[in-house]
Amino acid sequence: MKIKSITSFQLRVPLGDKTFYSSQARFPERNSYLVRVETDTGLIGWGEGGQYGPAEPVAACVDHVFAPRLIGRDPTEPVRIWEELYAYSRDFGQKGTYIEALSAIDIALWDIAGQAAGLPVWKMLGGAFRKRITAYATGCYYPEDFSDVPALLDGLRDEAAGYVDSGFGLLKVKIGLLSLKDDYRRLRVIREAIGPDIGIMVDANHGYNASAAIRMGRKMEELDVLFFEEPVGAEDREGYRKVRRENPIPVAGGECEYTRYGFRDFIAEGCVDIIQPDLAVCGGITAFIQILALANAHGVATVPHVWGSGIAVATALQAIATIPPFPFTANPIALLNQPIIEFDRKHNPLRDDLLVEQFVLSNGALEVPDRPGLGITVREDITAKYAV
Ligand code: CA
Repeated sequence: MKIKSITSFQLRVPLGDKTFYSSQARFPERNSYLVRVETDTGLIGWGEGGQYGPAEPVAACVDHVFAPRLIGRDPTEPVRIWEELYAYSRDFGQKGTYIEALSAIDIALWDIAGQAAGLPVWKMLGGAFRKRITAYATGCYYPEDFSDVPALLDGLRDEAAGYVDSGFGLLKVKIGLLSLKDDYRRLRVIREAIGPDIGIMVDANHGYNASAAIRMGRKMEELDVLFFEEPVGAEDREGYRKVRRENPIPVAGGECEYTRYGFRDFIAEGCVDIIQPDLAVCGGITAFIQILALANAHGVATVPHVWGSGIAVATALQAIATIPPFPFTANPIALLNQPIIEFDRKHNPLRDDLLVEQFVLSNGALEVPDRPGLGITVREDITAKYAV
């Protein structure tokens, strides 16, 4: 079998009145970069690359740099191809756009390899420790008019209760845009709305310096927050270590770190309790396997970040199924010894409508499919509808 063609898709959905904010930025649109790899036998694999920025640079890397090197190659050797493409782009790649492009290609090749073998990706990787993965709702962002705190608190109460009503047992809430006092009020309102038994995680999107993050971590302890994501800037390794030492909440991060080399340093420097590689960013499934082993050997839990189209969610399901219990115990408990999957709940038709298959939450969990490859069928009417 040989790779016959590689096609890039840049998709964009304007959010209109559903625009929202994190601590860093306004989100007026959703962007996804998808790649479709077709073989001479008619098998088609899909991948996704990048999460945070525009799709155009990733498309340029795939179209102009990687694709010409892949036509005619055997697509069922993703690990070998990963090493070759990384080695080729090492002097100008290493992090960022090139690794996002490599992620997209790698995911598509694993999809094809699985289909060619008649096996789901989780089985290609050695087996699933679980076929249902506890999901957490990512929501409770900031509205356009985030300065109207009383209105914002009312909205949050309803939003958080809505996630619990729809079956989630875990929520991740954004912090870091308002003062520590107002963000603490937001969290307290949420805790009151959902009661003591629902898990809360927080994500500052690196909105703090270390001393502010430590103050916030200490305030949040009484709300029983399960992890504190991206307290400080990704480059501020000393800040991460300081926050980890001086705040009582476990520290998570790594959604914009890349490859086994980047994660090696992030883990070895003692920055985090939980690493969050994003499959569409860190270098795909091949990089994920390596990062998982590194983290496990260093006593760090792996809980992937997921924030893209349906392809990113489907890829994460396959990968998370293969994460060993951490530690291995007789009683699986979400986030204590079992990984969980992020399930973003803000408006995104690229997540909800792109695939023929639907992600259905039941008893707070998503099911891992048994179909070969990623187990997905992409709706080309949706890629056409949102193509840039
Ligand atoms: Ca995040």
